[in-house]
Amino acid sequence: MPPDENKVKKEGKRAIIIGAGPAGLTAAYELATRTDYYPIVLEQSKWMGGISRTVNHNGNRIDIGGHRFFSKSDRVMDWWLSMMPLEASASGLFALTYQNRQKELFADGNGPDPEQKDRVMLVRTRKSRIYFNRSFFDYPVTLNYNTIRNLGLFRIMKIGFSYMWRVLFPLKPENNLEEFFINRFGKELYRTFFESYTEKVRKMSEYQC
Ligand SMILES: Cc1cc2nc3c(=O)[nH]c(=O)nc-3n(C[C@H](O)[C@H](O)[C@H](O)COP(=O)(O)OP(=O)(O)OC[C@H]3O[C@@H](n4cnc5c(N)ncnc54)[C@H](O)[C@@H]3O)c2cc1C
Repeated sequence: MPPDENKVKKEGKRAIIIGAGPAGLTAAYELATRTDYYPIVLEQSKWMGGISRTVNHNGNRIDIGGHRFFSKSDRVMDWWLSMMPLEASASGLFALTYQNRQKELFADGNGPDPEQKDRVMLVRTRKSRIYFNRSFFDYPVTLNYNTIRNLGLFRIMKIGFSYMWRVLFPLKPENNLEEFFINRFGKELYRTFFESYTEKVRKMSEYQC
């Protein structure tokens, strides 16, 4: 329950939060429920949820950059699971894995039905791949037989040389996400896989809900 607005007007305790992404919404909720501050969230776009929001495109629900929810912090996981309980079909103990980390969760099987409710955490098996040049590549990109076969020897050599170049001569300082990727993957691999991806992520405000 948000604090009494009349009391807020009298005492003038307001907190202005910029952005209705997960961080802004969480901060607003915590202030509203645990303090006597009255949070006001200012959002520049028409949507809530920031880059974690789900876009409804012609009835299909799509995340901007396939999101799965994972946090190293138990407190953060518990917070979001209290907002969005695990779906009813998930039951028992199961493990979430993310970037070689693992977290065990227990679902009591009494959660909401996603066909009926929106505020529900879906449990899905996920496989991420990049579709490029009519082929599927592993994501994160790994140098394996499949990658070499899909790219061809010539491109692999270009990628190798441009990667070595950036290992020896990294861009300093890193000013943006593009330079971050180039320093870690080299310009050729960045151009091959990440350029259009980064562009889409940066121009998120142009997506239609
Ligand atoms: C491609 C991609 C994949 C990801 N995958 C995962 C994943 O699988 N799992 C995971 O846990 N996380 C993932 N993340 C990270 C996750 O999306 C972010 O950590 C999370 O959205 C950050 O939340 P936030 O509230 O800090 O910022 P944001 O989500 O960026 O929200 C910021 C909000 O502030 C608004 N805003 C900005 N400036 C202003 C301003 N001046 N005035 C008013 N409003 C403003 C923006 O419009 C936006 O709504 C992914 C991110 C990307 C880009």
